[in-house]
Amino acid sequence: MSDDGRMVGGGRRRDDRENLALRPKYLRDIVGQDSVRENLQILVDAAKNRSEPIDHVLFYGPPGLGKTSLAYVIANEMNVNIRITAGPSIERAGDLAAILTHLKQNDILFIDEVHRLGRTIEEVLYPAMEDFVLDIVIGKGPAAKNVRLNLPRFTVIGATTRLALLAAPLRDRFGAQFRLDFYDFVAMQHIINRAAAMMGIEIQPEGTSEIARRSRGTPRVALRLLRRVRDYAQVRADGIITGTVAMEALALLNIDQLGLDDVDRRILLTIIEKYGGGPVGVETIAAAISEDSATVMDVCEPYLLQLGFLARTPRGRMATPLAYEHLGIPLTEDKPSQPPLF
Ligand code: ADP
Repeated sequence: MSDDGRMVGGGRRRDDRENLALRPKYLRDIVGQDSVRENLQILVDAAKNRSEPIDHVLFYGPPGLGKTSLAYVIANEMNVNIRITAGPSIERAGDLAAILTHLKQNDILFIDEVHRLGRTIEEVLYPAMEDFVLDIVIGKGPAAKNVRLNLPRFTVIGATTRLALLAAPLRDRFGAQFRLDFYDFVAMQHIINRAAAMMGIEIQPEGTSEIARRSRGTPRVALRLLRRVRDYAQVRADGIITGTVAMEALALLNIDQLGLDDVDRRILLTIIEKYGGGPVGVETIAAAISEDSATVMDVCEPYLLQLGFLARTPRGRMATPLAYEHLGIPLTEDKPSQPPLF
């Protein structure tokens, strides 16, 4: 983990709890993600028409794009209760059984980091998702008995940053699967203006644009930067976020024109300077910059790939000519193709 926006795994972040009021409540409040929003509207309307719970839904994509928010939105749209949990916090099959037996008809169970569920837990989840039954073993040894309990019809909403780590049978049980993409510039401007209005922050259009440009297409990052820029505006200016104030505050945070921070730059510099531009394995990169490899893979890499600064090859990650250009490093023809021997 580096600064406050980069914690991956291990529960919700404090900023997000503060952000609760900022979360969109209904589908009509969602800006961007047009295709996901439209598909969800159909899913919700169809389920309501049939007076049934919606099918199990899986959201995947980089952190901070709104997977949890969308789960809340679905619960609001369906007017049902939502129970929040995360893969790593369900340690035993009994934990899951306790959660499932407390669900009521049509309730939503949101499982964040669903790729981190243990295999034995998954085995309990399969029949629960498919047939709404819970198979439990009572007693031990020869006296042990299998008991099958009926569960109310409920909906699982899963969220993951690593679709590839999800076991195929689990993935198949989600009837609707949506990939969340980075938001475009206009959507980011809307999200920042809406949050500023809700937080009572005065911001000028140039200030919004400066923050939107460096938010990596990610609402969570935008909200974090907005708070930091607000602090700067209050301490160093008259509290109003102008273009200049935003630029100064973001420069002080070492966030460049494209939203890259120290960690992103260290990743690129490591590949270029220590490994001749790559290819180099992601674990090696993470170790070289003393970062958690999950942070590198989940938070930094997707954005660097999207910018076209990184290329993924079977032998590892490579820095592209665009990355050299952005960092102002000349691209030499005779760059070594192998890592140095130390
Ligand atoms: P994820 O579950 O994908 O990590 P979250 O749903 O927790 O992301 O969203 C991170 C933060 O960004 C939340 O505080 C939420 O308020 C905000 N957010 C996410 N998506 C949107 C959106 N479409 N519009 C406005 N705010 C959003």
